[in-house]
Amino acid sequence: MPRIAVVGGGIAGAMLAWRLCEVVKGGAVHLFTGEPHRWADASAASGGLTRAFEPDPALCLEAADSLAELQSSPALREWASYRETGSVYLLPGLGPGTAGLVELVRSRIPGSISVLTAEDLSARGTFRGLPEESVAVVEKRAGYVSPNALRDRLLVELARSGASVVDGQVDAVTRDGEVRPAGGVPARFDAVVVAAGAWTQSLLARTGLSDAGLRTKAIQYVLGPSVGTGPSAFVDETSGLYGRAYAEGRVLLGLPTDRWDITPGTAPADPTLTSRILDVAASRIGYRPPAGEVKAVAAVECYHPTGGLSLRPLARGIYTFTGGSGGAGKTVLAASRTAARSLVRSLR
Ligand SMILES: Cc1cc2nc3c(=O)[nH]c(=O)nc-3n(C[C@H](O)[C@H](O)[C@H](O)COP(=O)(O)OP(=O)(O)OC[C@H]3O[C@@H](n4cnc5c(N)ncnc54)[C@H](O)[C@@H]3O)c2cc1C
Repeated sequence: MPRIAVVGGGIAGAMLAWRLCEVVKGGAVHLFTGEPHRWADASAASGGLTRAFEPDPALCLEAADSLAELQSSPALREWASYRETGSVYLLPGLGPGTAGLVELVRSRIPGSISVLTAEDLSARGTFRGLPEESVAVVEKRAGYVSPNALRDRLLVELARSGASVVDGQVDAVTRDGEVRPAGGVPARFDAVVVAAGAWTQSLLARTGLSDAGLRTKAIQYVLGPSVGTGPSAFVDETSGLYGRAYAEGRVLLGLPTDRWDITPGTAPADPTLTSRILDVAASRIGYRPPAGEVKAVAAVECYHPTGGLSLRPLARGIYTFTGGSGGAGKTVLAASRTAARSLVRSLR
């Protein structure tokens, strides 16, 4: 029986280990969770926006397959605390590939998706000042999940299925497949997958392994009180604003950042970005919370130049499974299934 180690207990590592247990015996799978980082990892901070439509075709396919699986599985929905609020994706115009992507989503999740013009949207009154050519891809069956809750439950399920779940840091992964846990006994594996999110680069660098172009970037959003009836989960590409309803009468609103190469665990919120988020939210959706009632949240995510969470080989038997690039919450179900199958095939 091949022995497989997964290093990193975020949603990527936990989900991959769980998928591996579907194709090999649980006893073959060893997950090193890296406990001390958990409070600051991307899975804990994630906004969890989940939909099927993405402008990038490869990501759209993965997001649609992931959402279709989530919707067909009551267990996954419960574990991920899925809330179906609907989703709106605003684009500056109808691109040449958009109709094909809408059809793709329709084939995976029938009856969910439709396209509205800026005029239709203005009539609804939720978004203001949209460019004239804008269109909205609207999904009824989409919303948000908690990657943190899903990860926690997967760790329990993994232990039940006989996998070894080891809390604590891994000091190093060597080119010949040795995993060296901090304060533990080093062990050799047939395959090692480093799924340590934004910590992946530094872990690989300790043994001179290449990081294959991975980079880190801060992501920041604000949490504030809901004021009136705001939009459901949405992304507005025309302004960069995204958001969703949050627990207990609060909303989450964010803008993309350009804060690259940030050390994970040390991403203080940028007050200038917080003000910009509030300015754009005021003009686009009329959001004006009482002063002092907004809290900024920032965390660091791992990006890959080709975008998206996928299994990337580094050396014989050594892989990364990271590079979620700000969106792995919605693609992890399909990405982990593909990764587990391809990893097990490579060991036969
Ligand atoms: C603020 C924010 C908002 C987001 N919002 C959304 C969203 O709305 N929708 C969406 O789809 N996606 C969203 N994302 C993206 C998504 O949440 C991430 O892509 C996903 O959580 C990444 O999971 P991961 O497991 O790769 O990384 P992480 O969650 O960062 O997990 C990495 C794990 O590796 C462990 N580790 C680190 N070093 C070691 C070591 N030496 N040994 C062992 N373990 C180690 C850490 O403890 C950590 O648990 C968001 C991300 C952020 C940061």
